Amino acid sequence: MDFNGKTVIVTGAGKGIGREIARMLAERGAKVSALTRSAADVDALRGESGCRAIQVDLADADATRKAAIAALPADFLVNCAGTTELQPFLETTVEAFDRLVAVNTRAPMIVAQEYARFLIREGRNGAIVNVSSVASFIGLPDHAAYCASKGGLDGLTRVMAKELGPHGIRANGVHPTVTLTPMAVKAWSDPEKAAGMMQRIPVGRFAEPADVAEVVLFLLSDEAAMVNGISMPVDGGYMIA
Ligand code: NDP
Repeated sequence: MDFNGKTVIVTGAGKGIGREIARMLAERGAKVSALTRSAADVDALRGESGCRAIQVDLADADATRKAAIAALPADFLVNCAGTTELQPFLETTVEAFDRLVAVNTRAPMIVAQEYARFLIREGRNGAIVNVSSVASFIGLPDHAAYCASKGGLDGLTRVMAKELGPHGIRANGVHPTVTLTPMAVKAWSDPEKAAGMMQRIPVGRFAEPADVAEVVLFLLSDEAAMVNGISMPVDGGYMIA
């Protein structure tokens, strides 16, 4: 897949899966417009050739909209930034729920609105990939707010696919299982929990960021020109186990 001359907005490009997506895109000729939070990550991204990095807290709706506009023009969009907080359902706080929905669901909507408005104005085609999770398909203990936020993101993906498809803009979701990133350390460092999860993955390992990034790049590319509105697991078979 060749992304020469293309510009791609990648949210959450500072770490983990987003970092790998940005790296792979740059390797294949794209210019990356990164939206991410930590200053150190922004500095590191700015040091890489062809990368624009914009610092933003995606929990802040107004700041997110401004950053999305600043990241234009762009050919493609990857909504990858996400966050989690582990709380049992009965102890899930309104504050944590709102924080997760703001970053995992609302921010992708805002960034996609600005990206799609731009493309429609310019009469250009495009593609959006929203990074969801297997957690949107199942009930993961201690992940009530996270599962809800990713289920909401899937709903947005499907509506985007319907409403933006006629404008030549495709929208798809990818659903990784546990992927070895800083977030996985936060959610899966309990060896007993991790072993239970691993047992249900037929290929016998957790995902690497590159496993997810390859699928994201495919869904952005013209090779996936007829793929619109899908939820693609990247889970080593977890969902059938
Ligand atoms: P990481 O925590 O490793 O990286 C997340 C990135 O998103 C960081 O650069 C982080 O910046 C950024 N980010 C988070 N919150 C904000 C915010 N409020 N404003 C701006 N940037 C923000 O996560 P992963 O790479 O593991 O996850 C990437 C995506 O994949 C997420 O959507 C996640 O839900 C999903 N996913 C991950 C799985 C996993 O096991 N790792 C499994 C399934 C799905 P900073 O560090 O500066 O806050």
